[in-house]
Amino acid sequence: MRETTFSPAPVVLIVDDQATDALILRESVRDLAQVHVATSGEEALRVARQYRPDVVLLDIEMPGMNGFEVCKALKSDPKLSDAAVIFVTSHAQADYELQALGYGGIDFIQKPLNIPVARAHINAHITLRNEAKRLANHDALTGLPNRMLLQDRAEQALKMARRNRGRLALLLLDLDNFKAINDSMGHSVGDQMLKYVATRLSTMLRGMDTLSRQGGDEFIILLSEVDGFEAVGNFAERVLTSISSPFSLQGNRYDLSASIGIGVFPEDSDDLESLYRHADAAMYQAKQAGRNRYLFFSPGIESSMRARHLLERHMRAAIEDGVFEVFYQAKVDAREHRVVGMEALIRWRDGDGNLVSPADFIPLAEETGLIIPIGKYVLLQACKDTRKLHELGYRICVSVNISVVQFREETFLGMVKGILHDSGLAPQWLELEITEGVLARDIDNARETLMALKALGVHVAIDDFGTGYSSLAYLKRFPIDVLKIDQSFVRDMLSDKSDLAIVEAIIKLGQALSLELVAEGVETPQQAEMLLEQGCRIMQGYLYCRPVPFTQICTVLSSWPRRA
Ligand code: C2E
Ligand code: MG
Ligand code: MG
Repeated sequence: MRETTFSPAPVVLIVDDQATDALILRESVRDLAQVHVATSGEEALRVARQYRPDVVLLDIEMPGMNGFEVCKALKSDPKLSDAAVIFVTSHAQADYELQALGYGGIDFIQKPLNIPVARAHINAHITLRNEAKRLANHDALTGLPNRMLLQDRAEQALKMARRNRGRLALLLLDLDNFKAINDSMGHSVGDQMLKYVATRLSTMLRGMDTLSRQGGDEFIILLSEVDGFEAVGNFAERVLTSISSPFSLQGNRYDLSASIGIGVFPEDSDDLESLYRHADAAMYQAKQAGRNRYLFFSPGIESSMRARHLLERHMRAAIEDGVFEVFYQAKVDAREHRVVGMEALIRWRDGDGNLVSPADFIPLAEETGLIIPIGKYVLLQACKDTRKLHELGYRICVSVNISVVQFREETFLGMVKGILHDSGLAPQWLELEITEGVLARDIDNARETLMALKALGVHVAIDDFGTGYSSLAYLKRFPIDVLKIDQSFVRDMLSDKSDLAIVEAIIKLGQALSLELVAEGVETPQQAEMLLEQGCRIMQGYLYCRPVPFTQICTVLSSWPRRA
């Protein structure tokens, strides 16, 4: 079984005012323990407080504090009182011995020192201490940490999580119908079973996690540093699977299952006590709901997790089934009254034929990495469709949204080049929309990628400008072609003075840096008029065109004058 204790080397403290005796003792035990030496009683207490010795070898006769007094002081300090005190003395009188035992000493080593004998005494006490420590912190049947050790570890993990704004999970696992096995097969079978369960569970943990048996058929798993509920849910699922694979014992096969309740810090509780109570409540509910399952304490977590699982499963299937579609929304030069480009916007038609908004699935796609194949699909489709439009005589640009996750992929540039090649679209007709967040982190890499895109001839737009990291420095530092004014400012610019001021400021900034400006979400002629007045002429919004499937964009384009 995995060794779950953190067991540092035992510590021995030698206290003797005779340097030679101290030296001899030290040499005789240096391979058994970490050894510290003090040459007076006062120093001994200082060293003891610092190193918490398991065994103290204590000379009785010393100037200043004598050995008895040191022993008394050690025994009255709760942090040091566990140490095994062995007196080292040249006296052999019974009253000395009685006195020493009375102070809490447990053994004697006779001077002059007989090294093998001294060593054997010390070794015996180190072994005893180790065993006592193990028993105090571990469950005798399974050897797993017990409630006390778990509590200690959990407090540490909580402290860390608080400091790092991290998350941890407490899983309370109770075997289903275990009592029936115990009653019908006898306790020795039951005990064997618990040991098996402990072994199986131990192999599933990371080094930083703790598995503990609380007594009976109840186990607790402490997962420190977890990223999300998803990961915790997946872990619980794996635990259930592992427990449900049959056990064989003395030629018989047994099937077990368990119910798990999960409490999460900080979402459910912010202290250990309530975390435990919540995990317990969730476990009880899992039993009620039919056993062999796990439940999170918080219904919010539970339902969002299930929804996410479902969504992720559907999304994977959707990629394979090809049910993603690319819609297009025209971008219009409002002054010249012509279409200059279009934005590709992904759509997902679910089983019932309804369109799912990208806002509902892109974040999860980013988290799960599914955005990589999805984004590649959109880019390829958009390039192919645009090429087709060119063949039909509509020579317009296409903008494609690129997620941070895609942009940071090592293969990103290669992917863009490959798609341009495969679709036959010349790079100057492609614009990639990234958000400010892409530029805020990993600046050097971002710059390198953008330079490479520029060299290729691909244009880059900052999408939703004004909503992200408002460091404007990057506008100068990065090779950017277009600013898209976020629709939230456009929406309220006629009623909200500060939004109008922001729009004005963005337009001025764009003009000063010679960037093209695009206003998003233009819905009314008044907004368009105001934008034109401010100096922004390229617009995108329902006023001109809603996002439509490729076949309809041709119709839209044919209703607008063509570029000269
Ligand atoms: P976005 O890139 O800012 O796209 C503009 C969004 O505004 C689109 O929402 C569009 O339908 C909507 N819109 C356009 N005109 C108007 C208007 O006049 N009024 C209002 N209220 N809305 C308007 P959509 O298609 O739901 O997309 C939402 C976001 O999802 C996009 O915001 C983009 O960030 C993301 N997205 C869409 N397609 C993709 C994709 O292929 N890849 C990635 N990574 N993200 C995508
Ligand atoms: Mg966009
Ligand atoms: Mg936008």
